Amino acid sequence: MLINLDKSEKKRAKRIINIFRKDFKSAKVFFTGDKTISVENLKKGEAPALFSQIKAVLPKSEIICSAEELYPDAVKSKFSFDKKFEIIAGPCAVEDIKSYLKTASFLKSLGLKYIRGPIFKPRQSPYSFQGLEEKGIEILKEAKEKYSLKIVTEVLSAEQTNKVRSYCDIFQVGAANMRNYPLLKTLSESDKPVLLKRAQCATIKDWLSSAEYLAGKNKNIIFCERGDYPLFPESGVNFNLAGKIKKDFSLCVIADISHSSLGAEFVFPGALAARYFGLDGIMVEIHENPQKSKVDGKHALNFKDFEKLIKKIKSLG
Ligand code: PEP
Ligand code: MN
Repeated sequence: MLINLDKSEKKRAKRIINIFRKDFKSAKVFFTGDKTISVENLKKGEAPALFSQIKAVLPKSEIICSAEELYPDAVKSKFSFDKKFEIIAGPCAVEDIKSYLKTASFLKSLGLKYIRGPIFKPRQSPYSFQGLEEKGIEILKEAKEKYSLKIVTEVLSAEQTNKVRSYCDIFQVGAANMRNYPLLKTLSESDKPVLLKRAQCATIKDWLSSAEYLAGKNKNIIFCERGDYPLFPESGVNFNLAGKIKKDFSLCVIADISHSSLGAEFVFPGALAARYFGLDGIMVEIHENPQKSKVDGKHALNFKDFEKLIKKIKSLG
């Protein structure tokens, strides 16, 4: 990993040196000219002039080694899907039994194995629809029994984890909860896989640190890259970052191509990008009538477009 520092950024340079000194004990710091120095030889409060000359900070061996040293359990996560490229689709939130069973039946007819089943929604505003909560449990149960699909559902607390345990196959930790350490500790005790989303703007290190909470005891982790805030087109899914952790650590990594897309028309290319970046699959929101969806209708694919997407993915082998 190479970090190029602006010469004038003395404060930032200092902060980075402190982080590297703590986490990458064997990192080397490159200065302007040919001078290099090992991080362990840098002292806190070194002359600012020295920091202003920093050109780059480079761990002795690549980050892959450092991360293994730092996050031995997380990088040994062992989850893998049966298929080369898995698709986890479903509504943003379970809304009612009729529409959920219709969605389940549709996914089953396409030969898919997983369905999203969110009943606890982490909403930014307390006035927005929070999901069906406990009332949704019976719906998940019925869909599971009728269509034998595997249910991926989000939990925000230990209490919710206990409530849905019997009706869910994969627990989802949403972006808003990547740093909910008590929740991660609870899920580390679970025998079910955990889909861990990357929080917006979290680094690989942040993501692996959160995974480490799970991986001490639960090594079935699916890393899900969901992108940053969709303010600008370029702030969507970070495929490079997802591809990097997949390649460097052989982890199971998928992309949620819905949440940071700027509309349904970008979901199709997002899916193909995930495939071409060598990821293990995608998560995608669908709705029989996106305009009527209670949450996230703007980026939900309707059934027809979703079917087209599935056909395209299948054609890629
Ligand atoms: C979701 O998948 O339902 C969700 C809320 O996504 P995120 O946590 O990525 O915002
Ligand atoms: Mn959503």
